[in-house]
Amino acid sequence: MNDLAERPVYMDHAATTFMKPEVVAAMAPYLSEHFGNPSSLYRFAAGSRSGVETARGQVAAAVGATPAEIFFTAGGTEADNWAIKGAAFANQERGNHIVTSAIEHHAVLHTCEWLERQGFSVTYLPVDEFGRVEPVAVEAAITDATILVSVMTANNEIGTVQPVAEIGRVAHEHGALFHTDAVQAIGAVPIDVERMNIDLLSLSGHKFYGPKGTGALYIRQGTRVETLIHGGGQEQGRRAGTENVPGIVGLGRAIELATADIEGHNRRIAAMRDRLVRGVIGSIPDCRLNGHPTE
Ligand SMILES: *Cc1c(COP(=O)(O)O)cnc(C)c1O
Repeated sequence: MNDLAERPVYMDHAATTFMKPEVVAAMAPYLSEHFGNPSSLYRFAAGSRSGVETARGQVAAAVGATPAEIFFTAGGTEADNWAIKGAAFANQERGNHIVTSAIEHHAVLHTCEWLERQGFSVTYLPVDEFGRVEPVAVEAAITDATILVSVMTANNEIGTVQPVAEIGRVAHEHGALFHTDAVQAIGAVPIDVERMNIDLLSLSGHKFYGPKGTGALYIRQGTRVETLIHGGGQEQGRRAGTENVPGIVGLGRAIELATADIEGHNRRIAAMRDRLVRGVIGSIPDCRLNGHPTE
């Protein structure tokens, strides 16, 4: 009892996670000996460069993409901004309409609100009592001017998992791109960008036991996305700035660990979740689960 009272129990992993010791260990050499600039041509820089490229392969493998489709960013917020603003501006001659949901993270919602002030039009779809976005509602909202649909894979407050594969299929049937904020889904929902009809996918290292300030955007080969950050030729000339080498290495190791045994992880977490939900509902009157009973 005493011990429990003194030991903090952290239960806000949707806000951030600690870094796994394996992640810290993977990063350590890149905080010391491998300090070269990955863009430098001499052999000394090769260590940094290969660290970044190993991580790119790890992220690609985790979502079913090819390494050339993975672009590192400074977190989930930048990835969301890049996906949505980048797709909007690169495709504006085809239309100016975006479909999203009312329960997106602020990195998506505030980006869409800003785009409305730039002349784009946005539909914010409501969700059902369980927090689900209906693919038929997405279809009904799509117009001839729709260029992008953005619906998150899993919600950061209530945990509801969206039917992203179907939403992506609906978007594609109407010639729109499909972006998903998968920040909360990595390590909890198996991701396959092909099977799930995803063109753009955002992820963030610190939500799956990796470092803060690291993230990535998956951009399907051939997808038109405007560059937001101009400068040097890093990330195939599409996201400038000297790479956060230790952070990227940590992100790569973390996503490898997080996706190694999603089923086993979910079994453990689900058992604790169910016990917590039962305990709260059973002992406090007038409580109900704000979320989806199965998804
Ligand atoms: C945390 C979070 C973000 C933002 O990611 P950062 O790396 O913190 O910028 C975006 N979307 C969702 C769903 C999140 O949970």
